[in-house]
Formats: sequence, C-alpha cells, structure tokens
Amino acid sequence: MSALKKTKARSVGRRRFLGKARANWLYTQPEVQKLFGVCPNTIRNWRRNGLRSFKANVRLFLGRDLNAFHKRRYEDAKRPCAPGEVYCVCCKQKHSLREVPYLLDSKSRFRTRVLITCPATGGTSATYIRETDLTSLTQQLNHNSSRVSDD
Ligand SMILES: [Zn+2]
Repeated sequence: MSALKKTKARSVGRRRFLGKARANWLYTQPEVQKLFGVCPNTIRNWRRNGLRSFKANVRLFLGRDLNAFHKRRYEDAKRPCAPGEVYCVCCKQKHSLREVPYLLDSKSRFRTRVLITCPATGGTSATYIRETDLTSLTQQLNHNSSRVSDD
C-alpha cells in the first residue's frame, strides 16, 4: 500500500500532461522536465514506455510525440483491464501477461494469484486471474512461442 500512497499525486494528474507540448517544437530534456514538472527519472520511464526522442548533442523531444504519448497513456489508463492484463502499482500502467514475465502464485478453486515483474521499474504487482482465462492465455502463449525471437 505504501507504493500506492507515494505515487498518488502522479496517478491522479496524468490528464495534466495532455496537449501541453507544441507539436512542431523540439524540446531538450530540461525543457521537457520544466514543461511537465517532472524529474529525469520520470522521463527515462516515459522513454522506456515508448516516448520517442532524437539524439543530437542533446536529446530532443518533438512536441507532437510528447502529446501523442500522453494521450495514449491517458486513454489507456481510463480503459479497464482486459482479461490477461494487470494494472501495475509500480508504474501505474497496464501490462499484458503476454508481454511481461509472470509467476503463478497461490491457487484457489476458481482463481489463481499471478505475480508480474514490471519491465519499467522491476517491481512486483499481483492480480487474480480466473481459471478459464488462465487456460486460454497459456494456450495462446504456447501457440505463439515458436514465433518468439530474441530481440
Ligand atoms: Zn509496471
């Protein structure tokens, strides 16, 4: 619960990032920090989560990319978790069990506790998954495993 409490202010205000950047403007990292009121770690986290940047002598962010990134994250956070998705208390995003490593923890008659490792923070989140959803997920993963490559 302490992790939730600590990041509460951030999770409430994701909406405040929307449409803030000028689409055709290039921002340096310090400018992005100032524009959104965030620290360097947050920007590193955004980059891990798909925010594009350019490498010149300094890293540059295009305003359009910043806006599109925050819009996508805002929309994504509003949508409830689909079966096979886990809301991550570490980075406040949803992770698909198809994309992150997970462990099956305790099992009751109708549902299994699943632990995931957050790819952005390395933290652990837990969810419960119904037996039927777990079965179909496992089948899909087995089906896809022949196509998985290393990069
Ligand atoms: Zn996460």
